[in-house]
Amino acid sequence: MKVRIFDTTLRDGEQTIGVSFSPDQKLSIAKKLDALGVDAIEAGFPVISDGEFQGVKMITAEGLSCEIVGLTRTIKTDIDAAVDAGLNSIHTFIATSDIHLEHKLQMTRDQALEKAIEAVEYGKSCGLQVEFSAEDATRTDREFLKKVFGEVAKAGADRVNIPDTVGYCTPEYMAELTRDTVDITKLPVSVHCHNDFGLAVANALSGIHAGASCAHVTINGIGERAGNASLEELSMALQCLPYDQKYETNIKSELIYDTSRYVSKIAGIIVQPNKAIVGDNAFGHESGIHTHGVLNNPLTYEPISPALVGRKRRLKVGKHAGIHGMNAILAEFGVKPNEEQSKQILDKVKVLGDQGKQISDVELLSIASEVLGDKGIKRIVQLIGFSVSTGIGTMPYAFVKLNIDGKEFSGTDHGVGPVDASLNAIQKITGKISEIRIKDYALASISGGSTALCEVTISVEDGHGNRVSAKSVGEDIVTTSVQAVIDGINHIMLKKMLKEKQVS
Ligand code: MN
Repeated sequence: MKVRIFDTTLRDGEQTIGVSFSPDQKLSIAKKLDALGVDAIEAGFPVISDGEFQGVKMITAEGLSCEIVGLTRTIKTDIDAAVDAGLNSIHTFIATSDIHLEHKLQMTRDQALEKAIEAVEYGKSCGLQVEFSAEDATRTDREFLKKVFGEVAKAGADRVNIPDTVGYCTPEYMAELTRDTVDITKLPVSVHCHNDFGLAVANALSGIHAGASCAHVTINGIGERAGNASLEELSMALQCLPYDQKYETNIKSELIYDTSRYVSKIAGIIVQPNKAIVGDNAFGHESGIHTHGVLNNPLTYEPISPALVGRKRRLKVGKHAGIHGMNAILAEFGVKPNEEQSKQILDKVKVLGDQGKQISDVELLSIASEVLGDKGIKRIVQLIGFSVSTGIGTMPYAFVKLNIDGKEFSGTDHGVGPVDASLNAIQKITGKISEIRIKDYALASISGGSTALCEVTISVEDGHGNRVSAKSVGEDIVTTSVQAVIDGINHIMLKKMLKEKQVS
């Protein structure tokens, strides 16, 4: 069965606290979603602001291949704004639960029903495709909900949607409501599930299993409060889980990771590392037992291949590491220690791991080079001098001296603060040599107090678009930042060197 994917990243997703897209950003995300293969994009709520109206209009004018939908209340001016924005399709809603009727709309059930019917009829008279949502459906009196859906179907709605507005539904009840709605309307039914109890995807799957043909989802699960059902989780669950019934979507799964990164960057919402499918650790292995298993046969500890969603497996070493995983990482860099050397390297890794340290690939290579005595894989870039000055009434200024592959380079630069000045000075040097640029920088405090440890995560990109990230933990924000960047540069240069070796 084909399941329709209705993406509301640009509407419900934009209602995430701290997220606001400009019209240009909306358009750029819409193009990404279209390429990903979503069936419909909810582009926005045209009546709420000029910018929103412009954003929706730009998207409808773009001629994308998916359906473009706009949100409206059951109010004529809202629907008129949708038509003016070039939309052929609307998603119109009114709340039907007693809580919302009494405390928000101050309406009776009958009044709400009347508004719903009017809006559907008006939308149809404007020549629009109309999807009707009974807001807070899952907390609405079950018989009244049936009545509302039955009446809007008679009024000409093309589709109806069951929103679990506050994520209060169980998978079992979502199945029951879906069956009710399919029975009474005989229309295509959508489910719109929120994640307040972490059940958004489970509820959406349950609705689909009970006869719904469409799910409202967002990239990375962003949305009001705890967010919406996530597109990547729902579409991959439909495609991969062992249902008796075979489900398909039009999603090009290999574009999922790229789309997730893109939306995360524009929305400024970081994806949690343990997020299914798209989190940093979703295809990462550190424990020796798991790494050994995956290297023998990926199916042992990976339910799906990372390549299916446009990703790569990520192996890390740490205190749980084993010989096989560690050697697999070293082999990626062309380093092949013998059995005794492997043991020595692993011992050193475990000592660092027991101290609570993160061991980057570069650190692993540098440990390996100590053990192997191989000069060729020593750090390519070494920090040999560094000073920074900052204060009030003076512009932050940094001096950096690096040794790159045996040659010394120094650079100085200003910045808005000491970290910015240091990173600018480093970029001045590396920019000349290998076009390495710092793309992302994130700073987090690990514990409290003025002696707290800080964690710096950066990503650097070379002139060919190769990107690596590196992380450093330390007590001093500035030196930790510099160390993270140097690690990142080492990593990317090592990768490049290795590629060149393989080519030649
Ligand atoms: Mn919602």
